[in-house]
Amino acid sequence: MADIIENLRKNGFAVTEFDTAAQAADYLAGRVHGKTVGMGGSITLQQLGLYDKLKEAGETVYWHQVTPGDGTLDAAATAQAYICSANAISQEGYILNIDGRGNRVSATLSRKETVYFVVGENKLSGPFPEALERARNVAGPRNAQRLHKNTPCAAKGDRCYDCASPDRICNALVVLWRPISGCGSMEVVLVHEELGY
Ligand code: SF4
Repeated sequence: MADIIENLRKNGFAVTEFDTAAQAADYLAGRVHGKTVGMGGSITLQQLGLYDKLKEAGETVYWHQVTPGDGTLDAAATAQAYICSANAISQEGYILNIDGRGNRVSATLSRKETVYFVVGENKLSGPFPEALERARNVAGPRNAQRLHKNTPCAAKGDRCYDCASPDRICNALVVLWRPISGCGSMEVVLVHEELGY
């Protein structure tokens, strides 16, 4: 794990570490106070209880997982800060995300003041091919099941079938080798727990 953290920092990503999801949620609430916040679809963020925490604090936060619709997605896309998870982080310190609609990956590329990637230890992978394998064969099928998609991976729950289903959720892969130029900062908030898929 230490080498991944070191490589993330060498690549230009900030890294903060927390023992628990609750600590990470407290930290993020402090960091985004007073800013508009967009959130990407994520079981990890759900487990943090972050949306409720921010709303209770009076923050302006947009999350389609609570309020579905294009208006929420558009507002999240233009928020000052964006918070999502990652499907995997490779040993080289690259951040991988696969997306279907593109709202999540495009928001991470859109030169926000800050983008936070909240990840549990279970998202830390080996070299890039292993991280890609994880993103495709672990995160993809489990997310397809969560979203009740009509795909072979959701039905069987074992691996990606590189399907041609209309319900396919894997249409784009974004690998961040380094922070996007013009983005204020990109930060990995690493939680030493198992979170999300
Ligand atoms: S490409 Fe299709 S089969 Fe593979 S993980 Fe995505 S939805 Fe499932």
